[in-house]
Amino acid sequence: MCLFCKIINGEIPCYKVYEDSDFLAFLDISQATVGHTLVIPKKHVANIFELDSETASKMLVVIKNIANKLKEKLNLSAVNILNNSGSLAGQTVHHLHFHIIPRYENDNIHLAPDAHEIDHEALKNTLSKILN
Ligand code: 5GP
Ligand code: ZN
Repeated sequence: MCLFCKIINGEIPCYKVYEDSDFLAFLDISQATVGHTLVIPKKHVANIFELDSETASKMLVVIKNIANKLKEKLNLSAVNILNNSGSLAGQTVHHLHFHIIPRYENDNIHLAPDAHEIDHEALKNTLSKILN
């Protein structure tokens, strides 16, 4: 059984932020910033590619509600919502989870990709691969 399934069934403890019949949210053991929270479906789904549409749409509502709760209780003005799907993307626990990362002044978190030169030929080529 995967690590997060063990958290869901209580075998491994967690600092629980929210729970309902389908989802659990708990503090990430390694806090990127204060309040860093993981939101997971109780159903084992490895990553975004395996997620069914019904769970996906319910999950966004849960993420939105928790972001607002953190905003209110921790007096935030900003969060990043992050999902790593696949090892190459940095996923280390292969049970789907969204990170809610509160942002603070001078928190030294850098999530934005580097800017690149604009290449319209490459953009057209990529789009034709996606659409065809
Ligand atoms: P990933 O890199 O897969 O997107 O994120 C996995 C996250 O799970 C990491 O941020 C890591 O700190 C967190 N994590 C790993 N093991 C545990 C654990 O036992 N408990 C909690 N609460 N978080 C964990
Ligand atoms: Zn699992």
